[in-house]
Amino acid sequence: MPIWNLGSINIDHVYRLDRLPEPGATQAARSYSTGLGGKGANQTVAAARAGARTRHLGAMGQGDDWVIERIRATGACPAGIQRLPDEATGHAIILLDRAGENAIVIHPGANRAIDRDALRRALSEIGPDDTLLLQNETSCQLEAARQARQAGARVIYSAAPFDIDAVRQVLPHVSILAMNAGEAQQLFAALPGDLPVRGLLITRGADGAEYRDLRTGQTYRQAAFRVTAVDTTGAGDTFAGYFAAALDRGDAIPAALRLAAAASALQVTRPGAGDAIPDRDEVLDFIR
Ligand code: ADP
Repeated sequence: MPIWNLGSINIDHVYRLDRLPEPGATQAARSYSTGLGGKGANQTVAAARAGARTRHLGAMGQGDDWVIERIRATGACPAGIQRLPDEATGHAIILLDRAGENAIVIHPGANRAIDRDALRRALSEIGPDDTLLLQNETSCQLEAARQARQAGARVIYSAAPFDIDAVRQVLPHVSILAMNAGEAQQLFAALPGDLPVRGLLITRGADGAEYRDLRTGQTYRQAAFRVTAVDTTGAGDTFAGYFAAALDRGDAIPAALRLAAAASALQVTRPGAGDAIPDRDEVLDFIR
């Protein structure tokens, strides 16, 4: 029962500076580091570390083979990653000042240039016991969601970064819609009526998370685990990947919420996004 994740792959370039530069200014960084990021790659790492059989679908430019190896090292299968000769690998330039304030430029590159036919072929084996994860940092979400639902698979869609046009298109093919509190607010303002999905997952940072089963009307609430957060980047992706993996194993909603909340609580105690995601054994130790 694999989890298929059509998701962005970004290389994060992080520059630490004394202060963010003014227009026209040139400044030497105090330090530079690079890492794997993108909401898609983070969710793949989370699902794979949670123990699910996970396949990443997406696109990169040429080179940067370490990214593929990093994904493979989590246990996820990178075979569905297209290598596009004329596109740059998606990347983020992240400037951080001493106070932790940031300025970020993202170039989506290959993430938004996915070859539709190749994606269709890669997804052709998705089956009724499988799950497709989607976010809003790639192209082709609609085609993938439609294909997955036709095959009877569960489709979990993280509507982030929030984009109402994408949401309107993809929603009819979604089983579970996942959002943080800010995204949920924008969604309910834009689409006040009934949503055509089976369930809504809403995360609320240190205030926990809830799952609303729209078929039964039941709401399940999960408190956040109390931890000292040092970096909350990627918390929602950790939650989504773990939640999907728990459902894939056959966990009931309350158990899936608890596991995902524990995983994301551990994740925020560590710096970084994907690299900070714990594996299932660490999470089970934490809640034991
Ligand atoms: P996003 O990263 O998408 O904005 P949230 O901020 O809602 O998502 O965080 C997702 C989940 O991560 C929360 O539901 C919670 O379980 C966990 N989490 C986030 N911040 C904290 C925190 N400070 N302490 C404990 N858990 C947290």
